[in-house]
Amino acid sequence: MSKYISVTKQSELISLRELSERIGSDPLLTQASTGNSSIKLEGVLWIKASGKWMADAVHEDIFIPLDLAEVRECVKQRGDPAELNARASIETAMHAVMPHRMVLHIHSVDAIAWAVRKDAPVQLKHRLDGLRWQWIPYVPSGLPLAREIEKALSACSDTNVLILGNHGLVIGGDDCAAVEDLLSQAQQRLALCPRQAYPIDYAALAEMAKGSPWILPDDNEIHVLGTDAISRAIFSAGFLYPCQLIFSTSSPPFRSVFCPAPKDQWESRYGVQQFLIIERCGVLVREAMTPAQRAMMSGLAQVIRRINSCAPIRYLTDEEIKNSSSIVPRYRKLVDAARYSVFSPDRNPTVAKNVVATRSGSLPSRVEQAGLQKNWPSPELTNT
Ligand SMILES: [Zn+2]
Repeated sequence: MSKYISVTKQSELISLRELSERIGSDPLLTQASTGNSSIKLEGVLWIKASGKWMADAVHEDIFIPLDLAEVRECVKQRGDPAELNARASIETAMHAVMPHRMVLHIHSVDAIAWAVRKDAPVQLKHRLDGLRWQWIPYVPSGLPLAREIEKALSACSDTNVLILGNHGLVIGGDDCAAVEDLLSQAQQRLALCPRQAYPIDYAALAEMAKGSPWILPDDNEIHVLGTDAISRAIFSAGFLYPCQLIFSTSSPPFRSVFCPAPKDQWESRYGVQQFLIIERCGVLVREAMTPAQRAMMSGLAQVIRRINSCAPIRYLTDEEIKNSSSIVPRYRKLVDAARYSVFSPDRNPTVAKNVVATRSGSLPSRVEQAGLQKNWPSPELTNT
């Protein structure tokens, strides 16, 4: 491995950050801290840290460097690299097994609206014709997903688009420009028209919210779960993808209020609910609901209003929900955490300058990698 990171490689890291910010700022592509991006440079896997928002990629230190050979060896030994480093993305194994220099994984609402259909492989065959794509049936995030992807790629190694059942989209490419171009092509083919909903009854919602711990959400998209009967029916029938579990603290996943009980009974009847769906009016959310939870709920509403009323939907099974239970608490903790951590350049301006700082020839051990960006020296630049 080369001792120094070149100017060219540094510029690739900057491109990665800029692309991640662009994608992370589009709620139709990623929501809150979901999605992750990575680039492999000189034996180092630079990957978005777990819990970080792609939208913050330019202004915050969201990427961590991992020894690519070490990560791949871990996967080979059937270990999950995300368990070796508390900050590593849960999808680190997936990024490592993909042969592409740059990998992007997102929760595109159009992709998910297709990916929750039982007939998705058939429906997408025509839509994605011409792209080098493959369908990956649902498996839990982390090592199980990485192994399925490995299998799919061994059967067809030039694949660069993956549709993940009940989950999302993965794009691989040589660099950011190639990935962004391919993402644009895939998105155009996957695009679905959102269903029209009845108008939101703001006056009724405001009246109901008065004196209660629920408020009107600042994101209008969420209301479709109350104003559109088809969306409500789809939502109430089960869990579509694991992220939905993060803000659903009870089973069934939400409480639909047809004719609200007297307000003095709300707290006892609906106290654990993060949100109330008021039929034909809209949605109220808990005042304490975090921005991340609201962003994910808004994304879910966008997915649901793109699912055709006649679509054969594949919900997560009880077994799959149970298996996700080991992942969900970790995610929940992360999305509940403050968006800006101690690594925020707003709090520590010197950190931002060191975002791309690395000596790839002297990668620290896994144990040392926590807090790596803070301690590593500035890069020594070469023109090679
Ligand atoms: Zn994902």
